[in-house]
Amino acid sequence: MDIWEETLNWKPSLEQQELFQCLYKLIVEGNRQLNLTRITDPEDFWEKHLWDSLRGIKFLISAEGIETKKIKIIDLGTGAGFPGIPVAIIIKNCTVNLVDSTKKKINFIDSILPALDLKNVKATTCRAEEIGRDSQHRETYDMALIRAVASVSACAEYTLPLLKQGGLAVIYRGNLTDEEISQIENAVEQLGGVIESIEQFNTPISNSDRHCLYVRKVASTPAKFPRGIGVPVQRPL
Ligand code: SAM
Repeated sequence: MDIWEETLNWKPSLEQQELFQCLYKLIVEGNRQLNLTRITDPEDFWEKHLWDSLRGIKFLISAEGIETKKIKIIDLGTGAGFPGIPVAIIIKNCTVNLVDSTKKKINFIDSILPALDLKNVKATTCRAEEIGRDSQHRETYDMALIRAVASVSACAEYTLPLLKQGGLAVIYRGNLTDEEISQIENAVEQLGGVIESIEQFNTPISNSDRHCLYVRKVASTPAKFPRGIGVPVQRPL
């Protein structure tokens, strides 16, 4: 049994494995010119980019495969495309909008999408504080992913406005302190969300500490959120 099966009770198809391999090569090549990610060792890449991205959506994965309901996903502060690209590779019946404030990262993603043949993915240069106020995007997504972007409460303020009612924010964290948990409880209440669950786990190779917070949107987010550029980080809820 391999680690995918042991940890997610699922195994990528040959086609998905080839796409992961292709993604790895493209990122290593891109990294020669652009400072995209520090994680380029093959084992590290597998664990910290591929496995970690998919562990956050484990609830969608079953031994029979991946839930095929059509869902609309946004990945905020995607960087070189994580967690959004691995998610788009395994859930074909979804659309994924990869958003980052850094244009060179979005240009890089645009340049690699044809090689990955990911027609369900688009990349957008924008700040989370702006896209959350744009009526074309606000309250239109089923799921919002966010990893390694800002404090937990800023992540909640970035993601919740973009979700439809009933939608889910997946906030990927390393360590999570009790202080951060009480901070996010307070934030999600103001944003129209409730914490559905918090999962603690360790990565399968380096045994690093991880947490995933799952926040369900249960009420409309007040129009004043997200606040202006920089405010969610400077004055956390
Ligand atoms: N999510 C990726 C990952 O886990 O590998 C990248 C994480 S990187 C540490 C943080 C990224 O968030 C950067 O690419 C940065 O440009 C982006 N970012 C930070 N604040 C942002 C904001 N307010 N709106 C959009 N992108 C933001």
